Amino acid sequence: MGRAFGSSQSLAGIPTPMSSEHRPVRLLAAEQSSTEDELRLGVIAAARAMNALGLNRGTAGNVSARWRDGFLVTPTGMAYDETLPDNIVFVRNDGSWCGARRPSSEWRFHRDIYEAREEAGAILHAHSSFATTLACLRSGIPPFHYMIARFGGGSIRCADYATFGTQELSRNAVAALEGRCACLLANHGMLVFGRDLRQALDLAVELETLCEQYWRARQIDEPVLLADAEICRVLERFADYGQQETARADSDQGSPGRAERR
Ligand SMILES: [Zn+2]
Repeated sequence: MGRAFGSSQSLAGIPTPMSSEHRPVRLLAAEQSSTEDELRLGVIAAARAMNALGLNRGTAGNVSARWRDGFLVTPTGMAYDETLPDNIVFVRNDGSWCGARRPSSEWRFHRDIYEAREEAGAILHAHSSFATTLACLRSGIPPFHYMIARFGGGSIRCADYATFGTQELSRNAVAALEGRCACLLANHGMLVFGRDLRQALDLAVELETLCEQYWRARQIDEPVLLADAEICRVLERFADYGQQETARADSDQGSPGRAERR
């Protein structure tokens, strides 16, 4: 599904506001140089894609991209279809922000993840149905499928519950993300980061798919879980695959940012 967001494709079919800002929006790969304007458009594109892909409904969730000494993030309480580049808020690492709108109420975990994880270039938070369903059970996702390792290890953790928008929630999220690029938030939703907006969106789709598959399997019986040794083998194969794909992309001058794809 994520392949629809290739580096040269616009987000066809996703409505954009009727204004002088009306122009194709793209999700740029980290390897492509981005101007602030392009990143603002990319954040909007990712937020709209999140809704179009069924990861989110209404104004729930939020998206950000690292920028200079902070990050660009979606504003609070604004429909993504009506959001324009100027509505995206720049939040500095010290918590100050500038823009006509207030930043997402969850700006704290965006800031703290960028600070804790230097590899994070973009963050996506959604209240997607299957991830949220599992998050309401306050349990993580075990290694029922090898693709769990795509997120850095043998499980997806569920962060302890804390009220939305609080520093406590941010602390819990950063702890649950240790060694991982995704987690569930208890009684709340999912949180994913990637090196860029495109990868974060791809990962969010992958995580929601795994959550649905795990939920479906649980309807029938307890899934058979993969052993730690097998997860280690899968992690090694993902690493090898990444190197091969990177080499091929370099030689072909092909599209960047697909190194980890299976
Ligand atoms: Zn939320």
